[in-house]
Amino acid sequence: MTMASYRSDDTANQIKARLTMDEVARHYGFEPNRAGFMRCPFHQGDHTASLKIYAGDRGWHCFGCNSGGSVIDFVMRLYDINFRQAVLRLDLDFGLGLSQAPQRSRAEQSAILEARRREAERRAVFEREYHEKTVEHRYWWEVLKYFAPTKEDAAAGFIHPLYAEALRRQPYLEYWLEENLGKGVIT
Ligand SMILES: [Zn+2]
Repeated sequence: MTMASYRSDDTANQIKARLTMDEVARHYGFEPNRAGFMRCPFHQGDHTASLKIYAGDRGWHCFGCNSGGSVIDFVMRLYDINFRQAVLRLDLDFGLGLSQAPQRSRAEQSAILEARRREAERRAVFEREYHEKTVEHRYWWEVLKYFAPTKEDAAAGFIHPLYAEALRRQPYLEYWLEENLGKGVIT
């Protein structure tokens, strides 16, 4: 048996000890009557409420379809999930805090930190580049406005070199900014 399943069994026992079937049923929307019976969700047309809920950790039993078990069995069948998933779900839904995140080795830990650092660095570089491109875009936009050929220029066939340069640069910058809009700014 692996360490993980040892832990999961241990968690399962704690869940069974801490949660009654009554509170689990109510949490998931069922309303057992005073005698502890409710309609069985596992067989069709149970109009007589044949699922009996027992006190403490004794679980449930349906006299209609003869199914039964612990709170974990109930959640497994209700959500069609396996044992481990049901244990985790109960733990989370009831905020028991029993399932610990798996221990990471120091190597894994530092690999994660390193990846995070690289990602932050990549984002910083990108944001700098995006800002520079925005400033440049703004500059060429001003150039296009102020150095646009006048009628006289046009007649003389004169185009200001800055204006010509702006005509070359601007479409690329517009394309780049459009393409990268929103990238890297997500945290
Ligand atoms: Zn049943």
